[in-house]
Amino acid sequence: MDRVFPPRPDVARLVPYDVPPSTVPVVLSANESPYNLPAEVLSRVHELVDTLAFNRYPDPTARLLREAIGARYGLDANNVIVGNGGDELLLDLLLAWGGPGRSCLSFPPGFAMYGIGCDVTGTGYVEIERDPETFAVPIDAAVEMLQGGAARQAAVRPGDERGSEGAPVIVIVCSPNNPTGTLTPRAHIERLLAATDAVVMVDEAYAEFSDETVTDLVARHANLIVLRTFSKAFSLAGLRVGYALGQPETLGPLYKVKMPYNEDAFAQGVALAAIESAGLFEPRWAEARAERERLSEALGSKPGTTVFPSAANYLCARVDGVADLPSQLLGAGILVRDVGAGPGLSGCVRVTVGSPDENDRVIAAWPG
Ligand SMILES: *Cc1c(COP(=O)(O)O)cnc(C)c1O
Repeated sequence: MDRVFPPRPDVARLVPYDVPPSTVPVVLSANESPYNLPAEVLSRVHELVDTLAFNRYPDPTARLLREAIGARYGLDANNVIVGNGGDELLLDLLLAWGGPGRSCLSFPPGFAMYGIGCDVTGTGYVEIERDPETFAVPIDAAVEMLQGGAARQAAVRPGDERGSEGAPVIVIVCSPNNPTGTLTPRAHIERLLAATDAVVMVDEAYAEFSDETVTDLVARHANLIVLRTFSKAFSLAGLRVGYALGQPETLGPLYKVKMPYNEDAFAQGVALAAIESAGLFEPRWAEARAERERLSEALGSKPGTTVFPSAANYLCARVDGVADLPSQLLGAGILVRDVGAGPGLSGCVRVTVGSPDENDRVIAAWPG
């Protein structure tokens, strides 16, 4: 055949995710850790390479890793599901609860994967913009929409003809929020959990860099799922390991839709070694917070610069009258993320907090 039948029209419209390889000396664009695994963990990785049965399928439910994760939160292994990065679990959430005729609510400016996951699964994507000054989640409007009142006026994404009729069945709150760094107070999450039986996913990909978490609410709320990842705090973006916490009955649908062998044996073993040595990562998290404050003060004291408060390992900032901040920094060998397209973020960049040396370079190159 010299042609191929087209895919679903909503798939045909999508654009593949791609990040061109970077030769920039200072990469502060993806919120990765500036440091590779600690030496002690690396030596366990070497041991793993020598002993792992690569010819055998992995444990489909990553039991040993789930036990170690559960123990960290005072939860049971059954309160944990492991995924190929947090991204996979987001997609699984949308596969299980979303789909045509259903919708997911989130609060931009936010993480691009939520919209991508909705597109891929045919789920309606409903957005309520964050407060333009504080980036707080408009909690009253969210509660009203979840209770049905405002569902029909929902701002379904432009160009999206899949507007959904009923109230959203999935809510995603990113806290600290990517890219703004904003924390959502626990009382607000509790209001959402009480207002709806929709599944509320709290994306805590950066919680290790903040003082807040809602993982302890899992035992009390059947509609709560907390998303976490090894990619940022545990220096493992190069492997793909994330997890979600929830009540066993709530996680059940995710086990039904996930690929059977979603997490490979090597990644399971490395993540286990990492979480069993969590104490070795803690000083790094403390350094990231201290460096975040130092960087925030140094940039914030430059004329025209606004730095938004952040509880994560990155800062969102802009400089008045400077429209090409990403390219100016690139000229100095520093790659940051241009987040200027997000609502309320015109001219803004997201800068990962790097090593002290890298942060010095950012401060030196910053205009003003
Ligand atoms: C990085 C990130 C994740 C998860 O990333 P994975 O590498 O797929 O684990 C989830 N949510 C947000 C907001 C993130 O920034």
